[in-house]
Amino acid sequence: MKNDLTVFEELESEVRSYCRSFPTIFTKAKGYKMWDVDDKEYLDFFSGAGALNYGHNDPNMKEKLIDYITHDGITHSLDMASDAKADFLNKLNDVILKPRDLDYKVMFPGPTGTNTVESALKLARKVTKRTEVVSFTNGFHGMTIGALSVTGNSFKRKGAGIPLHNAITMPYDNYIDENLDTLDYFERYLEDGGSGVEIPAAVILETVQGEGGLNTARFEWLKKLDAICKRFDIFLIIDDVQAGVGRTGTFFSFEPAGIKPDVVCLSKSIGGYGLPFAITLIKPEHDIWGPGEHNGTFRGNNMAFVTATEALRYWEDPSFEEGIKERGEKITAFLDGLIEKYPEMKGYRKGRGIMQGISSGVEGFSEKVAELAFQQGLIMETAGSDDEVFKLFPPINIDMEALEQGFEKIEAAVEAVAK
Ligand code: PMP
Repeated sequence: MKNDLTVFEELESEVRSYCRSFPTIFTKAKGYKMWDVDDKEYLDFFSGAGALNYGHNDPNMKEKLIDYITHDGITHSLDMASDAKADFLNKLNDVILKPRDLDYKVMFPGPTGTNTVESALKLARKVTKRTEVVSFTNGFHGMTIGALSVTGNSFKRKGAGIPLHNAITMPYDNYIDENLDTLDYFERYLEDGGSGVEIPAAVILETVQGEGGLNTARFEWLKKLDAICKRFDIFLIIDDVQAGVGRTGTFFSFEPAGIKPDVVCLSKSIGGYGLPFAITLIKPEHDIWGPGEHNGTFRGNNMAFVTATEALRYWEDPSFEEGIKERGEKITAFLDGLIEKYPEMKGYRKGRGIMQGISSGVEGFSEKVAELAFQQGLIMETAGSDDEVFKLFPPINIDMEALEQGFEKIEAAVEAVAK
């Protein structure tokens, strides 16, 4: 095949996006590497926007999947009981939930991140019998009307074509000024019942905003938000679709804050292999939907159960988590060094773990860095409402050597743009 993008320009809708940022035809991928039709090799610092935390075509998951298909394992069965589903539920409970003392039931909301968010918003309203949901500036939660109504990005919201209701957007942590605690305002607002303030059904947020520019909530701030939610009987929904599954250094991004949200939304890398898969973790006392009250044809993909179960085995070894933290520290040191060396970029570091980047104060800088990096064989996206952040997002198990090769490519791009 020729590396010719005409077919996409002619036949695919204008809404296509990543193929514009990374204009080549990809054919193959393994671990942290991708290849295009010209056999050019790329380092993947994008990881399928978080769907490939374990890299491409993980050999253990691949073997299990091939074996499952070879033996005519059931591929599609709606939410019928299957051996693959039983294995996944047991593994999730034994390796992730029980050791963290988390008492959740697992709900299968449909195959995407948006589906898990939508189910969380619905359930919170059903349980509390209230309507409003509080979300945060620059938060991203998905593209259906419910999920979009809590997404803090005006460009994406305009995609709905109509004003979106039933959500109140609050400034995220550190948004205005680090001395001005947005939660003090929030609590005061909730206390003001006499003036007609309605207590919301839920608060939804990411602990690190993946699409919104790597804005990061402090653990103390999360603790305080959790306490406010408890005080007013508001559902706390943590959208860990992007920041979860090890991205920030722990399996769940909220673990270091010591909180136990009412609902946890997981998708992207929970399936391990890049197959569409999502789960919603809910507290047993909130498990009030009757059979079929929330359903969907693709609730529980058996092939994703197989790969997800295998992916969770990595978490049985404590050195896996330590390795993620080590890589995160290397990224922090690299970015801090870069900021010091290139003051022209007017940059500051954002994010946590293997979800960090630099926000540049110079218009268009980060986009140019990502563009040049791509030309040099590194796939990296930008984030933030003005694409002001270039975002290092390699697989969480990337080789240290490859991580350093990526650093070299990024530094070369920064140097070229800073000139
Ligand atoms: N929540 C977060 C935090 C996300 O990053 C995304 C996707 N970028 C979604 C929800 C929506 O997931 P999906 O694209 O699978 O619907």
